[in-house]
Amino acid sequence: MSNIPTTDFVPADLDANKWKNLDPLYRALLERDVHDGGELERLLLDRSDLDAAAAEAHTNLYIRMSCHTNDEDAKNGYLAFVENVVPQLKQVGFELDRRVVGSEHATALDGDRYEVMLRDLRTDVELFREDNIPLQTEETKLDQQYDEICGAMTVEFDGEERTLPQMAKFLEETDRATREKAWHGIWSRRAQDRERFDEIFDTMLNLRASIARNAEFENYRDYMFKRRHRFDYTPADCEAFHRGAEQVCVPVLRQLNATRADALGLDPLRPWDLAVDIRGRDPLRPFADADELVEKSSRLFHRMDPSLGELFDTLRTGDCLDLESRKGKAPGGYQAHRDRTLRPFIFMNAAGLHRDLDTMVHEAGHAFHSILCHGEPLLHYRHSPIEFAEVASMTMELFAFPFLDEFYDEAEAARARRKRLEDLATLLPWVATIDAFQHWLYTHPGHTREQRTAQWIELDERFGPAVSWSGLESFREMSWQRQGHLFGVPFYYIEYGIAQLGALQLWLQYRQDPVRAVANYKKALALGGSRPLPELFAAAELDFSFGPETMQRLMAEVQKELDSLPL
Ligand SMILES: [Zn+2]
Repeated sequence: MSNIPTTDFVPADLDANKWKNLDPLYRALLERDVHDGGELERLLLDRSDLDAAAAEAHTNLYIRMSCHTNDEDAKNGYLAFVENVVPQLKQVGFELDRRVVGSEHATALDGDRYEVMLRDLRTDVELFREDNIPLQTEETKLDQQYDEICGAMTVEFDGEERTLPQMAKFLEETDRATREKAWHGIWSRRAQDRERFDEIFDTMLNLRASIARNAEFENYRDYMFKRRHRFDYTPADCEAFHRGAEQVCVPVLRQLNATRADALGLDPLRPWDLAVDIRGRDPLRPFADADELVEKSSRLFHRMDPSLGELFDTLRTGDCLDLESRKGKAPGGYQAHRDRTLRPFIFMNAAGLHRDLDTMVHEAGHAFHSILCHGEPLLHYRHSPIEFAEVASMTMELFAFPFLDEFYDEAEAARARRKRLEDLATLLPWVATIDAFQHWLYTHPGHTREQRTAQWIELDERFGPAVSWSGLESFREMSWQRQGHLFGVPFYYIEYGIAQLGALQLWLQYRQDPVRAVANYKKALALGGSRPLPELFAAAELDFSFGPETMQRLMAEVQKELDSLPL
């Protein structure tokens, strides 16, 4: 492809699946003499191309495995890369980082251009501790145990053994007794492993405290703020987000709960009453098959903006889409980018449901982000921080509102819009709950399980929906254990909240001036990760602030839209 920002350092026919092919090239980079800023810059560009080749090999193996879970070759190829190549890449990557950061010529690099990259590399080098490697391996193993326990959970229901994700659909049943029985099935099953989850989590907390101590941090929270490269916001900003969620979003959520209780004729709502359609309607059916989904999505994006429509159409040729659910495909959906040949890939399990349409539009936003950064020669800048990457995708879900008539009649489109806004009003308080919980966990080392439970209940009182837990107290106490992020990716969650506020701001712009909003969206996406977060937000004319004032302005608009939509 002509638009690959490649240097001639990486051979065009390099097979990057094997470490023996990558090793000499990485060695050459490590041993290369660098005499001035220009040569250091060349080193960074060559490294970027090599990293991109390795990343693409990794991605292709992952894609192949997730598309063919019953293909042993695909699985073994992926595992071989994870076991044999990834650790080597980490090691050599760290050595290169240290070389760049320690280079006397780093100061000769263009300050604006390399500010973000050097800041990231310096932090990674500063935090690196040999002693922490075995602790982090231990942490990963514990998380695998968590996943394994979750994956093994099944429930006998309606004459069949079902996984917990399969149980979710019964919570949407209009028959209340069925919902209640399904809910009890799910939570009684989880309760069987409550103790094991607590043990795993206690061990993780201890490991994490040691990791932070080894890196000379007072607590794991402060360590993780650095490790997650949170240079542009602080724990105090997160607390402002929690206050905003409490003061602004929780009242909207509880009003929605009250409306639901009214419509269903229930008082009080119970935890199994939250997912059912309040008018007892059948699920929305936006399309019959993947071809129809793609065709209608294309029309949607062309109407939103002709150039986004064209970008979407580039995904329709070649091997960029694998959308239809079939046997032997991994669950879920994702967008992956092939960093060397610059081709996005969207994976999903479309079954004709509304959430498939949401996923299509969301992942297309991620693909637009990738494509709009293609001119950027540095791999480091072709990816952006999650706080902004999710603005790219979540915004598309909101910009799609006026064009849902491609899939629905007027009443159905209104129902889909209402659902999106209700989900958003539910998401923000939940993000606050999880984030506030993590702040508490890691600033209260040595807490007991009873104290942890008490803190969780306090947060659920503060941010949770208006439901009665009477007689279900023990389930409520353990309900944090279902959020895998707490186990596997600590401190990762507020990103979704920050991004959602960015997406909402763009939606407000869109309602005022769609042309300008789309232009701002594309302008900011094209920056990739080359600028600090506040500048990425500013490029789209968004405030990078997430306290009560920002939330007030945004949720007032959400409320106005909700009021205009039929139940
Ligand atoms: Zn996403």
